[in-house]
Amino acid sequence: MSANHSKLNEIIKIAQDLRAQNLRTLAVFDLDSTLFNVSHRTKKILSEFAELHQLVELKNVEVKHEDWGINEAVLRAGYHPERDLEMLKNLRDFWFEKFFTNEYVHYDVPYAGAVSYVLELYQAGCEIKYLTGRDMLRMGIGSEEVLKKWGFPCEPGQLVLKPDRAIDDGFFKTDWFTKVNRTQYEKIYFFENEPVNINAVLATSPDVEIIFLETTHARRETVTAQLHRIFHFGRPSC
Ligand SMILES: [Mg+2]
Repeated sequence: MSANHSKLNEIIKIAQDLRAQNLRTLAVFDLDSTLFNVSHRTKKILSEFAELHQLVELKNVEVKHEDWGINEAVLRAGYHPERDLEMLKNLRDFWFEKFFTNEYVHYDVPYAGAVSYVLELYQAGCEIKYLTGRDMLRMGIGSEEVLKKWGFPCEPGQLVLKPDRAIDDGFFKTDWFTKVNRTQYEKIYFFENEPVNINAVLATSPDVEIIFLETTHARRETVTAQLHRIFHFGRPSC
């Protein structure tokens, strides 16, 4: 039994035990690079750009789940940051225009075990929220559709998006956690991949237990705190 496996199962067991005592558990999940592998979204956008401009190397490039944005894929395809400056600027604009949209979020695929884990936790009586840096206007409808499409529990109020794209993700998430009524919940968990958000929530809501998804992140900060770290939600017995 792996450490991942036992930690994930332990959370389900705690939620069940607390429910038996009429106490509430809350599990908060980030979406991008926590529940969903976004590399398929980027791959689709790169392919469309490549098609448009007849760039064979870019069309066939592999986008890895540990990539962040498009930089690694672009280098892998053999492009040079200075020599191909103009093309890369156009590509970056093209990617930015499409990545944060209701339409392209449909290309995301959940990480191994993510759907069954969230469902199992939900069935154990744990309340589920999705707290994302995506904004309501550009990605609200698509985010809800994609959660439902893959079978995640998704009822009104469970999906929490930024009301305005300009709000800083770290601020948005820490602010949300500080406003959660602590008298209602015996235990709160937060599943997140971005160290900036993790460190900010740790500093402002130290009672929240954070599970660090070591998938990919913006490389702006690292996590030095002793947290449970997982790569996906796959569990051997599933
Ligand atoms: Mg994320």
